Amino acid sequence: WSSPLSGLAHRKSLNDSLEGEVKAFLLDEGQLHTYDDLTKVNPVTPTTVLKCLQARYRAKVFYTHAGCTLVALNPFQPVPDLYSLDVMKEYHCAPQPQESKPHIFIVAEEAYRNVQGQVEPVNQSLVVSGESGAGKTWTSRCLMKYYATVAASSSLMKSQDTVERIEKRVLDSNPIMEAFGNACTLRNSNSSRFGKYIQLQLNRSQLLVGASVQTYLLEKTRVAGQPANERNFHIFYQAKDCFDETVEAMVHLGINAEKQGHIFRILAGLLQLGNVTFCSAMDESQPCDLEEKSKDFMHRCASLLCVPVEELQTCLRVQTLRAGKQSALFKPCSLADCSVRRDCLAKVIYAQLFEWLVTFINDSICADHSTWCNFIGLLDVYGFECFQVNNLEQLCINYANEKLQQHFVAHYLKAQQEEYVSEGLEWSFVKYQDNQGCLDLIEGIPTGVFSLLNEECLLNRASDAKQFRVRLEKELSDNGSMSWDKFSKQPHFTVAHYAGKVSYQIEGMMEKNKDPVPPELIHLLQKSENPLLHQLFADRDPVGQGTRGLRQVVTVVSKFKNSLENLMKILHSTTPHYTRCIKPNTDCRPLTFKKEEVIMQLEACGIVETIHISAAGFPIRKSWYRSCDCTDFVFVLQALMDSLAEAELDDAEDLQEAMPTELDPILRARGSVQLSSIQDPVMVRGWPMGLALASAPTITVSMTATGFQKMMSVMACLNEHCFRSGDYKVETNQFKQGVASIRAQPRGSIKLHYQRSPLLYADLHPDHKRDGVTGLNQILLEST
Ligand code: ADP
Repeated sequence: WSSPLSGLAHRKSLNDSLEGEVKAFLLDEGQLHTYDDLTKVNPVTPTTVLKCLQARYRAKVFYTHAGCTLVALNPFQPVPDLYSLDVMKEYHCAPQPQESKPHIFIVAEEAYRNVQGQVEPVNQSLVVSGESGAGKTWTSRCLMKYYATVAASSSLMKSQDTVERIEKRVLDSNPIMEAFGNACTLRNSNSSRFGKYIQLQLNRSQLLVGASVQTYLLEKTRVAGQPANERNFHIFYQAKDCFDETVEAMVHLGINAEKQGHIFRILAGLLQLGNVTFCSAMDESQPCDLEEKSKDFMHRCASLLCVPVEELQTCLRVQTLRAGKQSALFKPCSLADCSVRRDCLAKVIYAQLFEWLVTFINDSICADHSTWCNFIGLLDVYGFECFQVNNLEQLCINYANEKLQQHFVAHYLKAQQEEYVSEGLEWSFVKYQDNQGCLDLIEGIPTGVFSLLNEECLLNRASDAKQFRVRLEKELSDNGSMSWDKFSKQPHFTVAHYAGKVSYQIEGMMEKNKDPVPPELIHLLQKSENPLLHQLFADRDPVGQGTRGLRQVVTVVSKFKNSLENLMKILHSTTPHYTRCIKPNTDCRPLTFKKEEVIMQLEACGIVETIHISAAGFPIRKSWYRSCDCTDFVFVLQALMDSLAEAELDDAEDLQEAMPTELDPILRARGSVQLSSIQDPVMVRGWPMGLALASAPTITVSMTATGFQKMMSVMACLNEHCFRSGDYKVETNQFKQGVASIRAQPRGSIKLHYQRSPLLYADLHPDHKRDGVTGLNQILLEST
């Protein structure tokens, strides 16, 4: 038992000393860029991690390991020879790529060798995350190029004129998907507006024989309207820019000139449609009128979409209400509804066209299942988003990020656990933030936000944001991840995501979730004489949504949740590798490192926590040791080290409690402790050495040995056998962390100078610890 006051005092002293250590670490400025793995930084704090990354960025070093994650800083300018063929070869041929400079090719090569080694799970997933503009698309492209190079098979060369080699086709899928799925936004001039998982298929000899693409949640609203100063999808501007590249890629993939014609007519039709505007009719009982200048646009649109112009005009302005099986009632739409219908037509056509393209690409690049046996998957997903106003799209995106974060933590901890078990170590762990509570809040059945949203949509009544907010509060106020800003007038709810709090606007959410398409529009498109447009809607049931059987409504969140669940299944069945892309400044300026922006991203992706776990999880490793002449000393030291390792693996709180009360004040007063008269090494094991060493900069071990001479021979022996020849090696994943020096003291004592363990601070950072924090073991139990 210790009083809360003494706990606070202890914590304060830890904080003070941590500050001192941070300062000491940062003093060695010239060395900061040399930390190629952030788990070697000691102590691990947001400041030390940030300073190292900044120093590396300044030195034009863009990749850094963070334990099992690779951190990629966006250089925002081409870096000569960073991705050249020679560099690819260098990593591909290196006996130990991990020992080369950190690079995305290490991740690529590691995954590739895992497939070659056929170690379960043989299939691999490369998860690339980061916020918009951080470099995900670039990284995915680099990875694809790497595999297209190292796993290429010359024997697969096809002789046909139009069908290129598979690697080329796989790479060609990029410019097409980027043309149709990427756009210029405020944050990135080439921002992917969809998520994708590309599966690279390898045969028995690990050669690339095919690929397939799965896409997620295209931001189709962009086709009808864009935020100020942003653009529509690239393809609409390509009549001038990059058009040849897109067309060339289409040709390589087998999209012939005729099909291209159909595609471009549809796109041109959408451009015309976007210019159509309406005005109120004189007679309110009549449909809205077209603005004078819109009449031409309407005609051109109908002609390009190959649909009758009258029908197009009617279905945009008149709602058809079914009254029994045969008869129908016609009701003029309001002015606002006309615009909604116009936008809906553009969105449904564009989304369907995008889907068709992805299917076409898949047909062109997917290998027959009999020819491939393993795959490497590249997941390029939208990062965590928090805007001024957040809507259903952000909720889905942030939910996906929560799922990935949970997968990351569970996987990483599982790997650690297996390592411990294989080395016969008992273990426990630092506390870690479990995001299950937040996931329950969003996906929980029957009272998660998604379920309640779906329920509201099924009721098919006019949505009322205020009413929905009341319902959410009633059902979910017990969940610690949910809150409300009492002063906000807008109906909203705030979710405490692992990466930060986000407030979601309720207004419009139900409608977005239903995503209704008036059946008249589908009927119209089914009549199109553009063969492609006709094909896009031929199989679609126009009344599937809305009128017939309300329970058939497939909502946006249900679809998204399903596809995400499938993705998670794939991820769980593969060996994952994580790359976190970081955007060093929001203006996309080369070599500009804005600390505040970087730290926000590091926190948003949980990187500091990850480094903590990596660093604290296993600070001390010992390789085998051979008996040597100085058996006494080595034995004592071995006891000492055992207890160190043992103590270090314990939770810092536990250690605090286990600390003998008489040792505590001495340690604090003197900063060192005399472990005198160690007669029996077993006794040492019982001491809380981890904490003792962590709290005290030095530990003096008094030997039972006799005389200075023996002492000196012990030291010589130690130097030679223990630390030089590697027979007794103290290895830490903190590099210099651990025993920093051993000095002979008068009267046969030995002073071990020990650098402080990051574990001591493990529960102090990150600062945003919340209630509901649970131990890692629990996460592992839940997810394995
Ligand atoms: P995201 O897909 O994460 O939104 P991108 O991959 O499109 O971001 O990167 C944004 C821009 O940053 C790219 O268009 C490119 O100009 C630049 N960029 C990203 N990574 C690199 C890199 N490794 N080297 C050079 N420039 C890069």
